[in-house]
Amino acid sequence: MKRLPKRGAYDRETVFKILDEAFVCHVGFVVDGQPFVIPTNFGRCGETLYLHGSAASRMLRILSEGLPVCVTVTLTDGLVLARSAFHHSVNYRSVVVLGTARLVDDLTEKMEALRLFTEHIMKGRWDEIRWPTEQELKATTVLALSLEEVSAKVRTGGPIDDEEDYGMPVWAGVLPLPVVAAEPIADARLKPGTEIPGYMKSYRRG
Ligand SMILES: Cc1cc2nc3c(=O)[nH]c(=O)nc-3n(C[C@H](O)[C@H](O)[C@H](O)COP(=O)(O)OP(=O)(O)OC[C@H]3O[C@@H](n4cnc5c(N)ncnc54)[C@H](O)[C@@H]3O)c2cc1C
Repeated sequence: MKRLPKRGAYDRETVFKILDEAFVCHVGFVVDGQPFVIPTNFGRCGETLYLHGSAASRMLRILSEGLPVCVTVTLTDGLVLARSAFHHSVNYRSVVVLGTARLVDDLTEKMEALRLFTEHIMKGRWDEIRWPTEQELKATTVLALSLEEVSAKVRTGGPIDDEEDYGMPVWAGVLPLPVVAAEPIADARLKPGTEIPGYMKSYRRG
């Protein structure tokens, strides 16, 4: 990236922490001059980000041809309410990754990517569920994107108002917006007596 953004960070630890807490990314690419930004899930292993989907996915097919791609991940931590409209803001952590994706052909790497996907969304799940068959693996496209050209940007803390506004009788501060799980809703065909797994009871991001 050419311009070091305000609040910018490039260290791996910051980037990985944001990627591991989020599970939705937006994938941007241009086809015949038309930009697309498509929401999707992702997984990470070390310096590699994995995308996956149906073998029929147009996005994954196009990206596997080596089209330049931009992946962004955003966590919104809170609303920053200032005394002036101008200084209202959002506490956030975000990552932007640039590069070209590689099609994962190897069935072992593909299976590992799907494990990462599942575990990324809910740690502990993979060991309990039925794993993909060879046929299901073949019906799934997996792309790998190297986390080489990557940046993070983070905003924390309260509002920063103009000095003359601090005396205003208006509430100012932060409204935190954590991701919190609600009560699980059991599937109508759940086998009677099946317990809610422990990893779900204590589910939280970050
Ligand atoms: C939270 C979230 C997670 C997802 N995770 C995955 C995933 O892991 N794997 C996966 O394959 N897909 C996932 N999807 C669906 C994904 O967004 C695409 O719809 C899907 O991959 C099909 O892509 P495509 O390029 O084949 O779209 P096409 O069917 O070719 O899309 C045609 C057109 O439909 C519109 N379109 C496509 N997707 C969307 C959308 N989501 N919302 C609104 N308009 C759309 C666009 O204009 C697009 O050009 C996820 C969606 C969400 C919201």
